[in-house]
Amino acid sequence: MSNNKGILIIFSGPSGVGKDSIIKKIFKKCPNLELSVSCTTRQPRKGEINGKDYYFLSKEKFQNMIDNDEMLEYAIYCDNFYGTPKTKIENDINNGKVVILEIEVNGAEKIMKKCLGAVSIFVLPPSMEELENRLIVRGTDEKNIILKRIKEAEKEIQKAHIYDYVVVNNNIDKCSDDIIKIIDSESRRVLQNRNTIERVLLSGRNNKL
Ligand code: 5GP
Repeated sequence: MSNNKGILIIFSGPSGVGKDSIIKKIFKKCPNLELSVSCTTRQPRKGEINGKDYYFLSKEKFQNMIDNDEMLEYAIYCDNFYGTPKTKIENDINNGKVVILEIEVNGAEKIMKKCLGAVSIFVLPPSMEELENRLIVRGTDEKNIILKRIKEAEKEIQKAHIYDYVVVNNNIDKCSDDIIKIIDSESRRVLQNRNTIERVLLSGRNNKL
């Protein structure tokens, strides 16, 4: 009998809200989840590894992937392309896995329209002031880039209402636990468990009576 179908989890939130740290916490507690590795044309930051954090591509290579229909979605964010490669996700979903896509809102919106069973979660900062502080303290971007990211954050937060769930990152442990609870409930939906029901029905009795 085939597996239950997997679940696509769209995970978004403004730059600096703590998505990477939240994802690390979630994967520590739930190592069976899959994380989709995106492609980007932005330069790697210090410590980022090609193939682990992102596939860092030239604009030409990224365009080739779009032309060959190898992207599930893509978007331009702060002058760079970001996109989700298709094949691995399709295989993972067919194999019953829960796959997390960490993507910005325009790409998320495309996937919500394309993949109707996808579950979407938006992470909010406690306030805009706190978001700005986190971006400054992170120290990975120049001042002009931080300003761009804050402008982008305002636009993104205005679109939070299109998501299924909203979680505030006041405290990273609480926030990642809340997200794990959402994933857990979603994986118990009847629609996700058709094959489990069938398996139990077909499993047979002991005939001891
Ligand atoms: P960063 O440059 O900080 O790594 O990412 C910038 C933004 O791009 C983040 O909001 C991140 O979630 C988003 N992003 C990362 N990968 C993808 C992707 O494959 N598709 C889309 N649409 N956005 C992505």
